[in-house]
Amino acid sequence: MNLKLQQYINGEWTNANSGNTRTIINPFNQEVIAEVPEGDESDAKAAIAAAREAFDLGEWSSTPATERGAFVRKIAEFIERDKEELAHLESLDTGKTVEESRGDMEDIAGVFRYFSELADKDGGELIDSPIPNSSSKVVYEPVGVCGQITPWNYPLLQASWKLAPAIATGNTLIMKPSEITPLTTIKVFELIEEAGVPAGVANLVLGTGAAIGSELSSSTDVDLISFTGGIDTGKKIMQAASSNVKNLALELGGKNPNVIFADADFEVAVDQALNGVFFHAGQICSAGTRLIVEESIHDEFVQALVERVKNFKLGSGFDEDTQMGPLISAEHLAKVENYVEAGVKEGATLAVGGKRPEDPELQNGFFYLPTIFTDCTTDMSVVQEEGFGPVITIEKFQAEDEAVKLANDSIYGLAGGVFTNDIAKAERCAAKMRMGTVWINEFNLYFPHAPWGGYKQSGIGRELGRLGMEEYTETKHIFRNHKPETMNWF
Ligand code: NAD
Repeated sequence: MNLKLQQYINGEWTNANSGNTRTIINPFNQEVIAEVPEGDESDAKAAIAAAREAFDLGEWSSTPATERGAFVRKIAEFIERDKEELAHLESLDTGKTVEESRGDMEDIAGVFRYFSELADKDGGELIDSPIPNSSSKVVYEPVGVCGQITPWNYPLLQASWKLAPAIATGNTLIMKPSEITPLTTIKVFELIEEAGVPAGVANLVLGTGAAIGSELSSSTDVDLISFTGGIDTGKKIMQAASSNVKNLALELGGKNPNVIFADADFEVAVDQALNGVFFHAGQICSAGTRLIVEESIHDEFVQALVERVKNFKLGSGFDEDTQMGPLISAEHLAKVENYVEAGVKEGATLAVGGKRPEDPELQNGFFYLPTIFTDCTTDMSVVQEEGFGPVITIEKFQAEDEAVKLANDSIYGLAGGVFTNDIAKAERCAAKMRMGTVWINEFNLYFPHAPWGGYKQSGIGRELGRLGMEEYTETKHIFRNHKPETMNWF
C-alpha cells in the first residue's frame, strides 16, 4: 500500500507516542489491510498544541481568503487526480462497492471545490448605523482551533464536510477519523501536505474516541468541536465540550421515514425505497429505513420490495455485479442481529431476510441479508431506534395527517421522503415533517450547496451550504465613532 500510515502533526508524519499500533481489516474477508499508529491523549495534546500555535502565532488566520480558497481548490484537484486510489482504499476499508466509492470521491472533490469558491464571498458587510457620525460593519473571522471527529460509514465524505470549510475560513484543526476506517483520511492529509497548507494548520491524530475524541472535546485549547456519529457519543461530547463552552456542531443519527402515497408512481417509489435503504448495507445516517405506506397499496408494495430484495447480489465490493457489501465489523453485525431479534420478539413480521446469508463465500465477511419487517407499530424498538443495517420497517396509514403524525413520531429528525404525484399534498407534508431535509419523489440525494443536519436529537447545526461554512466563523461587529465627544455623565 502506497500510503504513509502515520499521524500528521505540525507538518510531520509521526508514529504514536506510545509506539502502539492497530490493525485495520477488510470487512469482506477479515484480511489485515494495514497497520496504523494508535495514538492516545498525549498525541492529541501535541496536535492541539500545534494547532493552537498555528492559529495564535502564525499568519494563517489572516491569510487572504483567495489564498486559502486556492489551497482548498488544489486539494479538490488532487482528489480528482487520485480518485481511483482513494475509491479503492475506501472500499477496502468499508466493504462498500467500489462504484459507490467512486461516486463518493466525486462528491468529495465537489465539496472541496464548493468551499474553495465560497471562501472568497464572505468578506463582511457594512450595516446602517443609527448613531450619527459613525460607521458599523460586520466581519466574519475563523473560530480558532477545531476538533473534528468522524464516523466509519462515509469516512472521507464526512471528513470533507469538515476539512474543506475549516481550511477555507482560516481555522486550524485536528481531525480524528474513526479508528476502524482511517485510510482515506490519511491519504487526504498527504494531499493537504502536497497542496502546501502550512504546518500546524491541519493535523491528523489516529486512535479511539475514548482516548483522543474525549481529549479533543474536553480540551480548553479547542474552540469548536464538530462531530458526526452516534447519538450516545454526541451526548458525551456535548457534556465534555461544556468545559470551555465550545462551539458545537453535532451530526447524529436518524430513523428516517419515507411516506409512500397510493398515487405515487409505483415503480419509482419501489426503486427509490430500495435505494433509500440498501446502499452501503443501510449504514447511512439518512437511510429511509422507516417506510410508511398507504394501506390501499401496502400489500402490493411489500410484495414488489420482497421480490427485488430476494435477488440482491451480496459480495465483494470489487466484483462488478455486487450490489451490497458487508457490514463494517463483527461488533456491528452482532448489533444488527440483536436489533432484528428484538423486532421479532415485539411482534413485527419478517417478510424477508432476518439472518446472515448461507453462501459459503460470504462466511468470512460481516454479511447480513437485506431484511424487511411488516406489521410494525410506533411502539416497537425497531421502529424507534436506528438499526444502521439493511433493515426496513413498514407501517401502514390511511389518511395524510396520520402519515405525517407517524413520520414525526421519533426522537430523530434528520431526513424524510414523500412519494406522491399530488404536489400540493407533497408540499403540505414536507411543511409539516420535522426534519432537516425532506425529499419529494426522491430519497438520499444531497449536494454541497444544500445545508445538511438534523432537527430534534439528530443534531445541532448544519454542514454543507453557506451554513456549513458559517459554523466555522465567528461574527464580529466593529463600530467606529467618527466624531468622538465627551458625555459628561460622571
Ligand atoms: P460513534 O459515535 O461510535 O463514533 C463516531 C466517532 O466518535 C468515532 O471517531 C469514534 O472514535 C468517536 N468517539 C467515540 N466515543 C467518543 C467519545 N467519548 N468522545 C469523543 N469521540 C468519541 O459512531 P459510528 O458508529 O462511528 O457511526 C455511526 C453513527 O454515525 C450512526 O449513528 C450514524 O447515524 C451517524 N452518522 C450521522 C451522519 C449525519 O450526517 N448526521 C452521517 C454519518 C453517520
